[in-house]
Amino acid sequence: VHQEPATPIVIVGHVDHGKSTLIGRLLHDTDNLPDGKVAQIIASSKKRGLKTEWSFLLDSLQIERDQGVTVDSTRIPFLLDKREFVIVDAPGHRQFLRNMITGAADAEAAVLVVDAAEGAREQTRRHAMLLHLIGIRHVIVLLNKVDLLAFDQAKIEAAEKSVAELLKKLDLEVALSIPASARDGDNIASRSDQMPWYKGPTLTEALAQVPLPASRADLPLRLPVQDVYRFEDKRYVAGRIERGRLRVGDTVIIGTQKTPAKIASIASWHTAPQVSAAAGQSVAVTLEPDVIPDRGDLLHKQDTPPVAASRIRTRLFWLRQEPLRVGESFHLRLATAEHAVTVAAINSVVNLDDLTEYAGEEVPAEGFAEITLAAAETILFDAFAPGTADGRGVLVDRQQRIVGGAPLLGPAAIAEGDKLIH
Ligand code: GDP
Repeated sequence: VHQEPATPIVIVGHVDHGKSTLIGRLLHDTDNLPDGKVAQIIASSKKRGLKTEWSFLLDSLQIERDQGVTVDSTRIPFLLDKREFVIVDAPGHRQFLRNMITGAADAEAAVLVVDAAEGAREQTRRHAMLLHLIGIRHVIVLLNKVDLLAFDQAKIEAAEKSVAELLKKLDLEVALSIPASARDGDNIASRSDQMPWYKGPTLTEALAQVPLPASRADLPLRLPVQDVYRFEDKRYVAGRIERGRLRVGDTVIIGTQKTPAKIASIASWHTAPQVSAAAGQSVAVTLEPDVIPDRGDLLHKQDTPPVAASRIRTRLFWLRQEPLRVGESFHLRLATAEHAVTVAAINSVVNLDDLTEYAGEEVPAEGFAEITLAAAETILFDAFAPGTADGRGVLVDRQQRIVGGAPLLGPAAIAEGDKLIH
């Protein structure tokens, strides 16, 4: 049986606009809660004299995770008419940013939760910006808490319009905007009878329309080497195929080496030797001649090479609390490779207040920018493409702490005025 991979969905929005409530409500209304959970939520809501508080659900999943019980609350699986989704949730804004940029949330779609009464706020803007920069292609705006606007059409449409105007400035393509009340379940899994004027889909109907992730098997081969190990006199080159296919007898190029090698055999974990393998599979291959690649080398084919450059234009999501300046050095993590790089230029910085770009000397704490990274060696990569693993660079410091996300855009020319030229 062919099993479609689960579709990852991120749920984002300003604090208190209703993300946890939405997740709880969604899991409940689609029958995706474990037995006993609902009773538990109702009881604890009652105890505090509240109407059923769906946000307690996430808290309770979170507690279980902290106690090491079972649930990873940052990836909540859920089934919608047999189609599998994974809700990627991150407790707290900073954890969310980290998840997004390290690719833990390789999401196909996003739900941006906006409190209809309050409108877009600081984190709404930041999250929207991030969705745009990461290239999430399918954004659903959930205009939440419309009960606070008494389900009034004119007020709701005015709120919707102001959010739409903000997102338009960001070039964010919004698939649709759904007026909803997560607390009461209006337009989440069932149609609200409070808003007969709304003719669009409910949230679950909208999720069902999210396109399936495209197959990566038909793209040019990319196999980043994870490990090389010896077993019974043979050397096995192990890694996960990120794109494309591999067949025994194929000629491959190893990293920046000039001499090609032949795939002599392909093995997968727990399976008999295979004649071919495709994107998504982890394999161990033997090569002829018995050359020894390094961890981080990219196996590809001669006629479909990746970009090769030592100066790379990248976007940057800077995570540190202090500014970044030209000349600072890091390691660029790219799939299994790690390259020493220096910030050679700061090309433009994003002003988070009005989302315009300006020429800046530094990237402010937790800011967004476009920079140029310079390496001493040639780096092989594919330019960042939304919804794929391509070009998803991550900057780490000496202690291996993640300091920024760096989607690689393309080779950079050596510019006059660059302070560092390798
Ligand atoms: P989060 O910080 O985005 O996860 O927000 P929560 O889900 O914790 O919700 C914040 C508050 O808003 C809670 O008190 C919720 O009960 C409340 N809330 C969430 N959705 C709605 C809604 O549709 N209508 C109203 N009136 N309140 C809501």
